[in-house]
Amino acid sequence: MSSRKTKLIEKFKKIDNLEIIESHSDVKRLSKDFYNYSPILEEKLDGCIADLVVRPIDKNAVLKVAEICWELNIPLTLRGSGTGNYGQAVPLFKGIVMQMNFLNKLEEFYPDTGFVKVQSGCLMGDLNKQLERFGRELRLLPSTFKTATIGGFIAGGSGGIGSIRWGFLRDPGNVMGLEAVTMNEEPKLLKFDAEESEPLNHAYGTNGIITSLLIATDIKRKWYSLVIDCEELFKTIEILKTCLIAAIDLKLGAILEKGIVDKMPIWFKGESKSHKILIQSTLGGIKTIELICKKYGVESFLLGEEDQLSNGISEVVWNHTTLHMRAKDKNWTYLQMLLPLNKELELINSLKEKWGTNILWHIEAVSQQGVPRLAALPVLKWHSEEQLYLIIDHCKKLGAIIFNPHVLTVEAGGLGVIDSDQVKAKLKFDPKGLLNPGKLEGWEIKDDFNL
Ligand SMILES: Cc1cc2nc3c(=O)[nH]c(=O)nc-3n(C[C@H](O)[C@H](O)[C@H](O)COP(=O)(O)OP(=O)(O)OC[C@H]3O[C@@H](n4cnc5c(N)ncnc54)[C@H](O)[C@@H]3O)c2cc1C
Repeated sequence: MSSRKTKLIEKFKKIDNLEIIESHSDVKRLSKDFYNYSPILEEKLDGCIADLVVRPIDKNAVLKVAEICWELNIPLTLRGSGTGNYGQAVPLFKGIVMQMNFLNKLEEFYPDTGFVKVQSGCLMGDLNKQLERFGRELRLLPSTFKTATIGGFIAGGSGGIGSIRWGFLRDPGNVMGLEAVTMNEEPKLLKFDAEESEPLNHAYGTNGIITSLLIATDIKRKWYSLVIDCEELFKTIEILKTCLIAAIDLKLGAILEKGIVDKMPIWFKGESKSHKILIQSTLGGIKTIELICKKYGVESFLLGEEDQLSNGISEVVWNHTTLHMRAKDKNWTYLQMLLPLNKELELINSLKEKWGTNILWHIEAVSQQGVPRLAALPVLKWHSEEQLYLIIDHCKKLGAIIFNPHVLTVEAGGLGVIDSDQVKAKLKFDPKGLLNPGKLEGWEIKDDFNL
């Protein structure tokens, strides 16, 4: 064992309420996330393993870990449940992985606003159950909500089930504040209001250790799941768009191309040989959707209340679609994009013409700055990095905005541009650059800015 590691263990052992994980197999497992959905990231990240993993049981232990990392110049990478897809929680430069899952309490619910204050390591499935007693639910959920933490979602995710109504996590109104520990000589637990929280939202834990979050919630509704069979792909888009502008509550609206449906679990695909539209709405909303289906001459099947189903449609949407495709054949990977408004079909047809069944279409309805839009998470048969970028260029030329899941940094993936506020926050709260190093592009070129 290296002397650095021995020294670290000695220091960590003096911290109350801190679990230390030393076993190589556990440290290796806890240094990984789901980056293997990308062959490019797989090659880059397979060898990245932390020295140690720690799990703080209270906020004081978080402060002490930060203090020791500062003193010994040790990189510190945060982890919720490690379900991210871009290696967000993978330590690029060894050091410590700190898993936050023991900080998992609902701290307070505010009935006047519907805001909930919750510790960052709380699983979203658990939080949603606890919110039920207040008649509330989370607005936005990744399809991994049963196993993923709320802190990991805010720091590393973007949206998901609920984005059809509530947009994305960085939209104003979703995250109302947070508390985070800084990585300074004397680490502090600071409170941030909604505006101050923005630079820490979707920053991959590069500029603060989030301990609690203040999140806006929605009124709890009973969501019913409905599947529509449709033979023509163009018609699925028309039907979904008609549902989007109807005066109904929606939690989810997705389209799976037939080639994808064929690879889904048997409980979902049944005997059907067509494309499918998947909708979650209230029972009232379902009546309207059934009328829309009648108008278009397509058949719909009401599966029942999503929460009561042994297998709900939440398990075949967003990146769970990719998961099922990969379960059949590991050569499937994926892309993420916002399709050009009212030119969705044009783009899909053009790509079909050029790339054939190397790309299969999976569409998700979202609200983009208040406007109903279609996003896509098409699955791609992997051939080469060169081909991937030709496909990306093809999509961009036709007006798609790409959120590239084959890159490591905050900017290259979701944000698209350097957010100088994120870099400023890192200068202030992590001046040595110890938090999740290598993931914030703006930090690497900070000297070019006048910050
Ligand atoms: C099958 C599948 C489906 C998915 N579906 C979706 C989806 O619908 N929508 C979506 O947005 N994502 C999706 N994801 C990605 C991922 O599951 C979610 O973003 C999830 O919310 C991440 O939570 P986590 O607890 O696993 O975070 P982790 O993966 O552990 O961490 C994510 C990032 O947050 C940082 N972080 C974690 N905790 C903290 C903290 N306390 N303070 C500061 N930084 C922290 C980590 O360092 C890392 O950079 C999917 C992934 C898979 C494999």
